[in-house]
Amino acid sequence: MANANVMDKIVSLAKRRGFVFQSSEIYGGLGSVWDYGPLGVELKKNLKERWWRSMVYQRDDIEGVDAAILMHPKVWEASGHVSGFSDPLVDCKQCKNRFRADDPRLKGTPGEPDGQCPACGNKGTLTAPRMFNLMFKTFMGPVEEQAAVVYLRPETAQGIYVNYLNVLQSSRQKIPFGIAQIGKAFRNEITPGNFTFRTREFEQMEMQFFVKPGEDERWFEEWRAARMQWHADLGITAAKLRFHQHTSDELAHYAKAAFDIEYEFPFGWHEFEGIHNRTDFDLGRHQEHSGKKLEYLDTVTNTRFLPYIIETSLGADRLALVTLVDAYHEEEVEGESRVVLRFLPSIAPIKVGVFPLVKKDGMPEVATRIAADLRHHFTVFYDDGGSIGRRYRRQDEAGTPFGVTVDGQTTEDQTVTVRDRDTLQQDRIAMDQLVGYLQARLAG
Ligand code: ATP
Repeated sequence: MANANVMDKIVSLAKRRGFVFQSSEIYGGLGSVWDYGPLGVELKKNLKERWWRSMVYQRDDIEGVDAAILMHPKVWEASGHVSGFSDPLVDCKQCKNRFRADDPRLKGTPGEPDGQCPACGNKGTLTAPRMFNLMFKTFMGPVEEQAAVVYLRPETAQGIYVNYLNVLQSSRQKIPFGIAQIGKAFRNEITPGNFTFRTREFEQMEMQFFVKPGEDERWFEEWRAARMQWHADLGITAAKLRFHQHTSDELAHYAKAAFDIEYEFPFGWHEFEGIHNRTDFDLGRHQEHSGKKLEYLDTVTNTRFLPYIIETSLGADRLALVTLVDAYHEEEVEGESRVVLRFLPSIAPIKVGVFPLVKKDGMPEVATRIAADLRHHFTVFYDDGGSIGRRYRRQDEAGTPFGVTVDGQTTEDQTVTVRDRDTLQQDRIAMDQLVGYLQARLAG
């Protein structure tokens, strides 16, 4: 499979089967904003729930929060985003397109006569690079004046930092402890693209772990390993996962150490999660800008300190894209070619397809009843249209791990077949054992 080709196929499958649609498509679409359809919303929800469970429910040292998208504008001055969150850009005066100054398609020197626009091809029409802030601005209150400017948050982390004392006091946690959050973030990205990889509105799953200075390096290593293991447990192909360590000139101004977890997409290796040692930078800045003490009192040693923060920051949309790309397979089975999404069963949007073999002899009635029962436990798709082979293929393409078929034998001995999406093996299962059987397979 040629790589560009694979991405085109995945984008088209995503649309055709209802994973991802372009935003406002009937109006020609909105640049780099995407909507999730019926299957996509389930996939993303399953991923978010899996993350939340592993962070908040399965540990006793992490609490959850859900902070608002709009925050006091001073938050973004303290965090450094107002002054620092910018990319150098060049504009074409001829065609009005805008590019990142490091865009590989740019030829010559922007601002000079030899600088050539990659869009219209004109020479000498590019401006010299200028800094451009990536934060979206809006206005709060009835008057559109400077005093009322607020930003759409470009990361969810700040909502955690400003609430750190509230959580600490209300939850009675002690350091080391963490705060987890899932929520929307917005960045006015200049060269978005590659489907949902880089978008202007996206969701982050961030966990900030507060530790004693001096213990930060140990916790950083612990979280780095834990996060890679989490992706391995999700079934992502091991050979397509790797760490990228930030070199000193890549490190953000706040970070002491940073590793990206990268996936090999059809368009190359790219980050989808970042693990950062943010030191006491953030709490220090908020303490300074707010005038409020944010120190932690260690009651054992009776000392006060500003905790260091280890951050794990994962994009929910990027993770959904990773799982979609990684699950995509084309293969020959039973003399036919099929497209199959081999999702880990527990994250698959639909868990069970239910099919009457033929539309007669009472089979649809039995199958409808089974589907209704199963709906109490799983996401179910009932399908009685077309040949059984075609119905299986349709569910393969949606990534549905199990297909339950009601056939001639069902009325005789109350059994159905359960087809496995990956091995194509069919097991005969008693109808009254079906829920337990599927639950066990999904948990495995
Ligand atoms: P990049 O270098 O790709 O712009 P970044 O280093 O700015 O990313 P972080 O600020 O560390 O990214 O954000 C953490 C995570 O949030 C990323 O690993 C990614 O999964 C997600 N993310 C960041 N920006 C976007 C975006 N524009 N679209 C989708 N996901 C994003």
